[in-house]
Amino acid sequence: MDLGIKGKTALVCASSKGLGRGCAMALAAEGVNLVINARGAEALEATAEEIRAAHGVEVTAVAADITAEEGRAKVLEACGQIDILVNNAGGPPPGFWPDWEREDFIAALDANMLTPIALIKALVPGMIDRGWGRVVNITSASVRSPIAQLGLSNSARAGLTGYVAGTSRQVCGKGVIMNNLLPGSHDTDRIKALTESTRQREGITMDEAVAKRNAANPTGRIGTAEEFGATCAFMCSQYVGFMVGQNILLDGGAFNATL
Ligand code: NAP
Repeated sequence: MDLGIKGKTALVCASSKGLGRGCAMALAAEGVNLVINARGAEALEATAEEIRAAHGVEVTAVAADITAEEGRAKVLEACGQIDILVNNAGGPPPGFWPDWEREDFIAALDANMLTPIALIKALVPGMIDRGWGRVVNITSASVRSPIAQLGLSNSARAGLTGYVAGTSRQVCGKGVIMNNLLPGSHDTDRIKALTESTRQREGITMDEAVAKRNAANPTGRIGTAEEFGATCAFMCSQYVGFMVGQNILLDGGAFNATL
């Protein structure tokens, strides 16, 4: 299926590894030129080179912290016309509810709510002027079903979800389509680290920890960055014009509900 976005340009934030990388790779496979970003320059350059070699698109790599004002300024300075924005950043740390102070919430809101909002405010006006744009915000399955130890993430992502619900309906009539993509467990460095901590905590082997983790999902496995990227690319396509302000849950059926 040709997604009809060849020749467009996308900014994919936090994309040297993991889900962001999966999205960048899938968009490049559709002929989309890219601005990619991460803090670590080495992995970012390696990913940029891999994408160029695999798909022959233009890739600009900007090493910067997307959650910091200077970092965002650096990324935006490197961007020309951006047609597609994929918002992403690392998630807030885990913890226990009585321990989180105001500063912890401010940091989480800055990174996972106000950063995507700042990028939307910077880039959507240009999309509106040109009458075409796509925004996908990578949030989390925790928006639908809270993860107790990720209260900072639950809170910040719920705030972004509320903002997108209202804003998406104000810009869709001008050709800009905005939705959220909610990952359940996917095979990235973050999940590898969580599985390793289960292994240590329970004194089991890595094979046992992986089997236990996979058995917890109705599919018997976790998702891949390729699957996640393909869904993201579809959400950036010409065919998504009637999907507005939705929260697409990609979790292998882990959230047990009829609707
Ligand atoms: P990951 O494998 O840890 O990848 C994170 C990527 O983001 C790396 O390229 C990293 O590069 C970059 N990054 C992190 N913080 C950044 C920042 N402040 N500025 C710029 N780049 C940054 O993470 P992931 O598993 O792909 O997760 C992506 C998002 O989805 C996170 O918010 C995570 O909480 C959420 N999520 C993931 C899962 C899952 O199963 N994987 C499930 C639910 C939600 P540098 O470190 O070099 O900056």
